[in-house]
This record gives sequence, C-alpha cells and structure tokens, in this order.
Amino acid sequence: MNDFFRKTSEEVLNDLEVTQKGLTAEEVERRREQYGFNELAEEKRKTAFQVFLEQFKDFLVIILIAAALISAFLGELESTIVIVVVVILNAVLGTVQHRKAEQSLNSLKALSSPTAKVLRDAQKVEIPSREIVVGDILYLDAGDFVSADGRILENHSLQVNESSLTGESLSVLKETGKIDQEDVPIGDKKNMVFSGSFVTYGRGVVVVTSTGMNTEIGKIANLLESAKDKKTPLQNSLDQFGKKLAIAIIALAIIIFALDLFRGNDLVDSFMFAVALAVAAIPEALSSIVTIVLAFGTQKMAKQNAIVRKLHAVESLGSISVICSDKTGTLTQNKMTVQKVYVDNRVVEHDKLDLKNPVEERLLLMSLLCNDSVTIEQKEIGDPTEVALVNFGEGYQYDELKIRKEYPRIGELPFDSDRKLMSTVNKYEGKSYMVTKGALDVLLSRIVKIETSEGVYDFTDKHRKEIEEINRSFSNDGLRVLGFAYKEVKDGDISFDDENGLTFAGLISMMDPPREESYDAVAACIEAGIKPVMITGDHKITAAAIARQIGILMDESEAVEGSEVEKWSDEKLKEKVAGISVYARVSPEHKIRIVKAWQEKGNVVAMTGDGVNDGPALKQADIGVAMGITGTEVAKEASSMVLTDDNFSTIVKAISNGRSIYANIQNSIRFLLAGNTGGVLAVLYASLLALPVPFAAVHLLFINLLTDSLPAIAIGLEPHQKNIMKEKPRDIHVPLLNKSFARRVLVEGLLIAAATLTAFHIGLAKGSHMLAMTMAFSTLCLARLFHGFNARSRQSLFKIGLFTNKYLWLAVIVGVVLLHLVLLLPPLMGVFEVAPLTPGQFGTIYALALSPLVLIQLYKVLFIK
Ligand code: ATP
Repeated sequence: MNDFFRKTSEEVLNDLEVTQKGLTAEEVERRREQYGFNELAEEKRKTAFQVFLEQFKDFLVIILIAAALISAFLGELESTIVIVVVVILNAVLGTVQHRKAEQSLNSLKALSSPTAKVLRDAQKVEIPSREIVVGDILYLDAGDFVSADGRILENHSLQVNESSLTGESLSVLKETGKIDQEDVPIGDKKNMVFSGSFVTYGRGVVVVTSTGMNTEIGKIANLLESAKDKKTPLQNSLDQFGKKLAIAIIALAIIIFALDLFRGNDLVDSFMFAVALAVAAIPEALSSIVTIVLAFGTQKMAKQNAIVRKLHAVESLGSISVICSDKTGTLTQNKMTVQKVYVDNRVVEHDKLDLKNPVEERLLLMSLLCNDSVTIEQKEIGDPTEVALVNFGEGYQYDELKIRKEYPRIGELPFDSDRKLMSTVNKYEGKSYMVTKGALDVLLSRIVKIETSEGVYDFTDKHRKEIEEINRSFSNDGLRVLGFAYKEVKDGDISFDDENGLTFAGLISMMDPPREESYDAVAACIEAGIKPVMITGDHKITAAAIARQIGILMDESEAVEGSEVEKWSDEKLKEKVAGISVYARVSPEHKIRIVKAWQEKGNVVAMTGDGVNDGPALKQADIGVAMGITGTEVAKEASSMVLTDDNFSTIVKAISNGRSIYANIQNSIRFLLAGNTGGVLAVLYASLLALPVPFAAVHLLFINLLTDSLPAIAIGLEPHQKNIMKEKPRDIHVPLLNKSFARRVLVEGLLIAAATLTAFHIGLAKGSHMLAMTMAFSTLCLARLFHGFNARSRQSLFKIGLFTNKYLWLAVIVGVVLLHLVLLLPPLMGVFEVAPLTPGQFGTIYALALSPLVLIQLYKVLFIK
C-alpha cells in the first residue's frame, strides 16, 4: 500500500479507482464508511456523568463529604442529609455550567476548522478537511495546509514545508515522476505530499492516498493536544491565588475550631462550623467563573464575526494599544474596479481603449492571460485584483476563458507578496511569450524596452520619468497601479531569473474604496487610546492617500516604505515606530520587526495577516488576527483570532468585547470575594468577642453553594458598557487582583458584615440565639444577593440602568425564593435550624440587607463620573 511513490500517477489513480473527474457522492459515502473521517484520534469527550463525578474531586467538597459522614456516624442524620443535598445540587449546577461552556467552546472550534478544495462529481468544491476520503482529488495552493497524504498529479512549482514531519525547515520542491527506489525516507518522497505540512509556494493537484490515523503523521502523532483542557494565564493566576487563600482560611478555621473547643462548645458542632466556614470563605469557583464568562463572551464575539481560536487572547484583547492592519480588504472593500489605463503614451479611462490599436488590444489580452481568476455566472472567483482585470475585459466583450483557450498557458511563476510579480508563458501567433504583471517599482528595474504603436524602442530615463509621473498621479488619487510587460521566450520552462529584459506594455490602475465602517472604527480606536497602523504591500502614495481618507495618517512624514525599514537597525526602528502610521511595500519579514519594535516599547499589539509568510508575525503579535475570507489556512492556524468578514471594524468590536469580558470577570470575582469576606468578618467578630456563633454550618453552605453562584454568572454576562471604549487600554502588567481591587473587596465585605452583625445583635437582644442566627443568616444571604447590583459596574445603577441585566434579576429572584422556602416551610425550617420571623423582623432584615446597596450606590452617584 505504501509504495505509491514508486508508481506513475495513472497507476495510482487506477489503484485507488478514481478518475480525473474525482469521486462521486456515493463513492465518497462508501469510502467514508470504510475508512472513517479524516481526523486524528482525540481523547474521548467526557460524558455528563463523568463531569458530574469530577465535581466531587474538589478538595472542599471532599472535606464536606467527610463532615457529612462524621455527622452521620455521630447520629446527626439531619445535617448529613442537608450536606448531601447541598453538595449534589452544587455538583448538578457545576455540571450544567461545565457542559454549557464546553458546548459553546466546541461550536467555536467547529467554526474555525480547516477546509480543503477537492474535486467531487467533476466539480471543484470546498469541504471541511475532515470529510476528505482516500481517492479524493485535492487542490493545493500556497498557504494551504495539506490535510491528507497524497500522490502528486499536477505540479506548478509546488513547494511544501514538511518540518512537522521531518524537522527540516526548508521547503521541499515537489515533482511528479515516479521514484524507482525502495525505502525512501519521507523527506525524499518528492512526488508525495503529507498531512501536517503546508504549501509555501506554487500550486498542485494530488490524489489522496491515506487519511486520518493512516497518514504518516497519524502514525507518529500522539493524541491531539487540543483535546486537553488548557487554562488561560488568568485562570492559572486565580487558581494560585485561590490555593493560597484556601491555606490561610483553613488555618483560620482550625483556630476558630480550637477556640470553640476551648470555650467548651460541642465537638461536633464546632467541627461542622469550622468546615462550613472554610467552605463559605474559600472562593473555589474563581477559575470556573472565568471559563463560563469566556465561553459566553467568545460566543457573542463569534456572532459579531470574530472567532477566537485561543481563549487566552480574550484576556489580552482589552490591553491592546496598537493594531497593525493590512489595507487591502481589511480597511478597504477589496472590490476593485479598473479606472485609468496608461498605454501607447496616453492615459485613457477604463472604457475608452481603442482596440483597433494592436498595442492597446495586447495590453487587454495580457491582463486576461497573466491572470488566474474567473467570473462564472456573475460569481467572481479569485484574487480581487485579477477579478477587476477580468471585469475590465468583459467591458469589451472579451471572455477570459475563450482568450485563455486561444492563447494557451504553457508556463507560469505564481504571484507572491515578497516578489510582488506574477508571470505566465502563453502561445501567441506561433511563438511563446512571457507576460509579467506586478508592482511598478519592482517591474521598472527589469524593463529594457517599451512598445508604442510606432514600434519598440529602448527604454530611456525619459520614459522612466514619464511613467513614474503617471504612476504618482494615479496613486495620489488612491488608485492601485499594476504594470504590464512581456518578452519572447523559448518555451514554458521559466524561472525567476527570466523576469528580466522585459518590454513595457502599459499601466492599469484600479480603485479599492475604503470600507464604510473603517472611518468610525479608526476614530473609535483613537478615542480608546489605540494606535491604528496600516501595513500594506501597496505603493506608498496609494496607501497614504487611503490612510489619510480614513483618518490613520495625519502627516506625510508618518508614511514609510519597507525598503527604508530594511535599512534601519532594530534600535532605530524602535525609536521611530511611534511616529509611523503607514508602512508601504512591506514584505512579511518587515511585519515581524514592526511588531517587535512596538512590543519593546511596552505595547500590546494586534497584527492582521492573510498570507503564507505572515505566520511568524501573527505568532509574534500578542493577538494574531487572520482573515477568514481571503486568509490562507496557514495564517489562520498561526492566529489567535479569525475575522469571518475580514473587516478592520470587527477587530475594534472584538477589543471592546474583550474589555467588557475582562471587566465582567473582575466584577464577578469581586462579588464572590466581597460576599465571602462579609461572612468571614462576621464570624471573626463573634469569635473574637466570644459571642455565640452567628450562623449554623448549614447556613453558610446554603449561601455559598446555592444562592451565590447564579448572581456571579449573571454579573459575568453583564451587557456591554457604553463607556468602555472611552478609557485607555488596560495595563497588562496590573494583575486582576490588585490593591484597589482588594480595597474594594474589603470595604464591601465590611458593609455586608456590618449589616449582618446588626441583625445578629437585634436577634440576640430578643434573647434567642436561634432567632439571632436566623436574622444574621437571612441578612447575609440577602445582602450578598443585593450586592450583585453593586458589582455590575463601577458606575451607579442610574447610569447603567436598573433593568439592563435581566440575568441578575433572575438570579436574585431565585436566591430570594430559595431563602424564603427555608424561612417559611416548616420541614425546611427544622433542617436549616431557623426560627420563625415576624413581619417586623422580615422588614428589619430587608432594610439591613439593602443598606450596603444603598450606601454604595450613593457613593457612586456622588463620586464616580
Ligand atoms: P495588503 O498588504 O494591504 O493586503 P496588497 O494586496 O497591495 O495590500 P500584496 O497582495 O502583497 O499587498 O500586493 C503587493 C503588490 O503586488 C500590489 O501593490 C500590486 O502592485 C502587486 N500585486 C498584487 N496582486 C497581484 C497579482 N495578482 N499579480 C501581480 N501583481 C500583484
């Protein structure tokens, strides 16, 4: 089976029972059944029951279960039942949240899964790579991932990077002929391509020989890494913080336990209380809150066209201070139309060519021949620059397919954004001609002659000056300019060295207007303290004209060319970088230096990319952003976010979402910690003053495990805050749990504790410990629920609207109802050790529980702008 490289391509097609037309739909179905999907085995997903069981692995839950067993052993069956019920409910809640988060993250993953182009039923179609089967005819272009092993049928300068298999970082130039040897190492099987590699140059057609685990990479691959749960930096730091806090609190619980015993309290009661205190004070939900908020947040971002591929990106999004963006298609519409043409010494509008003039007609032919794009039934397929040329030809009733049949292509050198040229060799009147099109500044240095209707002349400085002048005037209007040239060659076998000694044929300019949204998005960036930078392969004058229009460029001195950057040392670039907003004629390797220069100045940088060579820059950036429509698979793989609409304004929206998500996570954690602090302070107070305990163990469990987590999630889902893009980017070095955060947690905790203890003292004054506990418990529970409204935002409720977070209302109502069930239903009253309350006492509890909300809102109204 493994000797496809030793056979001719016809033999391989025969062996695999497939024709040049590709497989039929039924055949694909049959083969899928036989070989399965084209994917590497992943670790099995956990079942809901497994997730449920995992909730019991938590250290605190284990302590609780131990406590339940001990109390059962000591005959306290009621406490045992309460603890078991509370623990199970908590685990159910945890499982539901985990599943929800997992589902939304999975749907996100599906959105960014790789695709492949194959021939099915004689039609070229794009399918998810996992649907490839053995025998599929697969098309490969520069920037594509090879997603199955295959034998090459057609090869146009195909070069493939196979470093993931062979470790060799240089690309391999592929061949089609059979290799007559046994035992050839992978790197030398030049007529094959292998899954896990990617195309760096050229194009090719292959027939798939093996898929999934049968591919070479499948044989060496371990289970896929992506199946493992990876934590984000924020989650890791919260986990660490949680652990440290847990140790401190357990120490505290032990001290309080010892104090209780010392004072002669019952051993079991003291033990249960210490356990409950630990459970109530240790914030075990911190990192899972982050997971849930990130999962829902990224779902929302996906709906707004930004697909997050790496979760940790969301955390840094809010800190972005520079966006380096491509021009074409991202800031502009990528809908190009030909405008002015320069040919035979004159400038003409796009519809005013004189086709009777052979020089003018030949320029039109060249634009259709040195061109891979087509329009079929109004559908435009291919590079927009080339589509514009096809439409230009259609304006004169020249059909690109007919022309390409009449003057067949016998050789080619594909376009790449480093070289900025493309050449084809076509048959024309019995001879072979190489047609080259590309960036004028690159092309001009290769020109030795010029053709006009009067004949072909040597190319002089005068010609050069005139053409440069025309180019400048086109570019000043924001037009993109392509130069065209040709020469006679012997045959189709050409190399880059042949792109020389050319005869100039003409210039074709095209318009690519800015996207409507770009204007506002650029303004929003600047207001949000984010510097937008344009990086483009286009000409400096064209780029500057567009940048000026949309507000990126204020002064001509802010635009430079890649060639200038090349002359600067890294140190000099770092010095200059803050003053540059447009980089023109840039190659992918300049991009990485620009990102690094900004980063060294302490910035968090987003960089867009689409090409095969953009990978390193996308990886170097803090957030690599790939284009979903025009981007190559390689660029997508290297990025942490993909834009499904290729639109600059989507990045700005994503940053605003990132800022909100971070703020929501912070608020939600503050809510949890402030509530816990309130409870702990109340217990400490009672313990230090040798008062009776303010809560029963079940009270603390009830609050912490049942009524607290829903509001925390609701705060995490707080809708977008209006002013979030009026602030400066968040300093990435300031941790989430910083000093001012701790101060707020403490103050809010103190207010909650004060309300709770006031209720406790009122109860004690009535002479009943049970009543005092009931009042303290109810006040703590309600005050924490109401505090949820404080935690929504830095701003007052009057500014953000009382009813704008309906989830929080729902969570608070559920909490209040649960509390009232416990306070009012006799069987539950017994279990939860609560005393009946009079309406007056209910009033007192509500008034006290509302006091932190009222005080904090008052403060916000008075002091926060
Ligand atoms: P951006 O980098 O903002 O996407 P761009 O599309 O102009 O801008 P490239 O695609 O790298 O960047 O193109 C660089 C230059 O190469 C263009 O300005 C143009 O002169 C030339 N060019 C673009 N497309 C082609 C093509 N299909 N054939 C020949 N030359 C091209």
